[in-house]
Amino acid sequence: RTAREALERLIVDVPEWPQPGVVFKDITPVLADHDAFTAVVQALAAPGRDASGAVVVDKVVGMEARGFILAAPVALTLGVGFVPVRKAGKLPRETHSVTYSLEYGEATLELHRDAVEPGERVLLVDDVLATGGTVAATRQLVEASGAECVGVSVLMELGFLDPRSTTADLPVSTLLTL
Ligand code: 5GP
Repeated sequence: RTAREALERLIVDVPEWPQPGVVFKDITPVLADHDAFTAVVQALAAPGRDASGAVVVDKVVGMEARGFILAAPVALTLGVGFVPVRKAGKLPRETHSVTYSLEYGEATLELHRDAVEPGERVLLVDDVLATGGTVAATRQLVEASGAECVGVSVLMELGFLDPRSTTADLPVSTLLTL
């Protein structure tokens, strides 16, 4: 697959960043390459369509911060709206809020209460699926609004962290698995 080849060629491993023992996957070279970025956005959008090509989602939700960069063009490709999920205190109006645990400490994510409507079908988009905590928290936010997550689309899944034990029954579409 073109998108997968582009990711294998362009993603850069950064050892010991942001802390010792972590190898960070830097996706920014993928964004800087127009052909790669185009192929990746098309591939990420695929779970938003059925077998006949009809769009089956009402919104695309992207998580701060790298999720924004990918989810916005996916939403435009599918012809639906984009919705940001942000870290605590960034959204200006009433929010749903979910706090979840990280390896060290915890994090809070927020979604504007009126950003997705009851009954809407939502596709989540992010760059990297690591422990799955971010995706699970985002799904809770979407469901708190009465909407449904139909799946999550990511560039890369870090399979050795076993994210699917956290994302449970949510369908995961990944372009590359490590
Ligand atoms: P999780 O909640 O699944 O443990 O972590 C996923 C979140 O952390 C995603 O929003 C992703 O952007 C970020 N993340 C974790 N590890 C990496 C990495 O190696 N590279 C990049 N680009 N993002 C990462």
